[in-house]
Amino acid sequence: MGHILWVKPVFHEKIWGGHRLRDVYGYDIPSDQTGECWAPSAHKNGDNTIIEGEFAGKTLSQVFDEHRELFGNIKDKEFPLLVKIIDACDDLSVQVHPNDEYAGIHENSLGKTECWYVLGTEENTKMVMGHHAKTKEELVKAIENDDYDHLLNSFKIKEGDFFYIPSGTIHAICSGSLIYEAQQSSDITYRVYDYHRKDKDGNERDLHVKQSIDVTTVPYQPYDLANQVVENIENGTRTLMVSSEFLTLNKYDLTGKNTIKNDKPFQLVNIIKGQGTVDGKEVRLGDHFVVCSDQTEVVYDGDMTVMICTL
Ligand code: ZN
Repeated sequence: MGHILWVKPVFHEKIWGGHRLRDVYGYDIPSDQTGECWAPSAHKNGDNTIIEGEFAGKTLSQVFDEHRELFGNIKDKEFPLLVKIIDACDDLSVQVHPNDEYAGIHENSLGKTECWYVLGTEENTKMVMGHHAKTKEELVKAIENDDYDHLLNSFKIKEGDFFYIPSGTIHAICSGSLIYEAQQSSDITYRVYDYHRKDKDGNERDLHVKQSIDVTTVPYQPYDLANQVVENIENGTRTLMVSSEFLTLNKYDLTGKNTIKNDKPFQLVNIIKGQGTVDGKEVRLGDHFVVCSDQTEVVYDGDMTVMICTL
């Protein structure tokens, strides 16, 4: 038997946050303006503590540093991936993330490529993904002229939608979105536009226009959903949502007992719907854990939807 690390989530309060992380998943959130649940995460801004077993009380980053053999002996300096659940009660700023090269030089960090699976929406919930500029000059001009209505690609979303967002893609989560996010373990965000919102003192939040222009990919290249593959398994289906050089994400819709193999350095697992058992232990939506490389298979039993993110 290998290791499954059950971890305690870290919450981040945000001005745009809400209380669906408690209402939907039963998390013990710090306030009714909680925007993000980080789990599994070993990032310094939200390092998860292991809650049971031989590593209880240690953080995921400590176990990663001290027991690299449990993570396929990968050479990464830091734990490479991070999963969040995001509750947006208001629009997030329009933003863009740098790639590894730019973030390494300017921020001493990994870059940030991410992907989103929409867990819930309200009526008319939208998303901003990409832009309509054909050249860097057009992009700069639109930003200078504050012409975001024409620049930004915005559309309505619904539960079950999926987006792959390579670094360099302008994007924004909008009010009403409940989102599963898997990403490179990075916290570097360049804010392009914040709707000229003012805080209670009348100030707008800082923008990072130069960096945003530096890192934005022009023209925008949408991810082709035709890359997704659906396959029948023992009792349910597996959908390969994306497989890239940064991360691979599979969604399992389970309707009974399934043995899911692990041939990766680790798997980050989030139960996003339903309930059942994982190797005999009861689980429900909102639960999350790390399957280490010495745990070569896991038995899931129940009606549930499970996201498994790997390298
Ligand atoms: Zn982002």
